[in-house]
Amino acid sequence: MPVCRKCGQEFHNSLWERIFWRNDLCPSCRVRRNEAIRLLSSRLDQFANDGYLDIREERALQEIMHQYDLTEQDLSPVMTRLNELRSRTRAENIRLLRKKFEQISSDGYIDDEELRSLHEMAASMGITLEEIDDIAIRLRRLLDLTAIHDGKLPVLDDVDIILKPREMCHLAYPVQLVEERSHTHYVGGSRGVSIRLTKHISYRVGGFHGQRITVKNLEIVDNGELYVTNQRILYAGERRTYVYPLGKLVAVNKYANGIRFQKEGEKRPKYFLIDDEFLIEEIALLVYKLIEKRTER
Ligand SMILES: [Zn+2]
Repeated sequence: MPVCRKCGQEFHNSLWERIFWRNDLCPSCRVRRNEAIRLLSSRLDQFANDGYLDIREERALQEIMHQYDLTEQDLSPVMTRLNELRSRTRAENIRLLRKKFEQISSDGYIDDEELRSLHEMAASMGITLEEIDDIAIRLRRLLDLTAIHDGKLPVLDDVDIILKPREMCHLAYPVQLVEERSHTHYVGGSRGVSIRLTKHISYRVGGFHGQRITVKNLEIVDNGELYVTNQRILYAGERRTYVYPLGKLVAVNKYANGIRFQKEGEKRPKYFLIDDEFLIEEIALLVYKLIEKRTER
């Protein structure tokens, strides 16, 4: 006599049942299982009404599955519907989290309260921020930016330029150098967001709104690396090298796709194309913080 896998009682199985159903449940456990599947199915219909399975609803379904010890095979009639609803829910959760992240990060700063609420929102959806690559990456960048805001400047240990005594390199990044074409008068176009580097000017947070540098009257003339140290900004390219001593900087212009530094007595503007909005913000903020430190002394 076969033994019921659920209640452990022996039960009678007809030859046909043995051949066609391979029952491992006694008749009464079978009835209970079928009831459970019907219950699960009707709950699922109910929960699927709004196309979203919230975490309480998910838990209610799990509870039915556990309570009646339903196997994967038992669940097969509802599984397709359940998985479909789960993946719709996940897509919606990610959309909502991205939206929340956009709101929080628009000012280029994330405080503890904002960070906590973001994590809490994810937790309430049964997911972690680390699971969503693009948010995880941008969150790390935003935390970097926030650290600089709070005066914690990054220091690079290993750079391929020769540093002067007491010089520290804070940032290095590959850029493209763009200059105005000679003999053409450059008119208007991209203005970007200008930060004047004088005393007592507070840094304007949230610069992801600058215009793009348009390459219409400009051309890419060189490829190189941009370094920001506590003494200067250095562009070291394949063909050209430019230095902006921090003491001679007048302004920094942020654009959606690059940055420009203005120094005393400079004739032709030079733009550095950077394909990373966080980095543009980071460089501008870093320069501002370094100038602030110099004037404090
Ligand atoms: Zn049983």
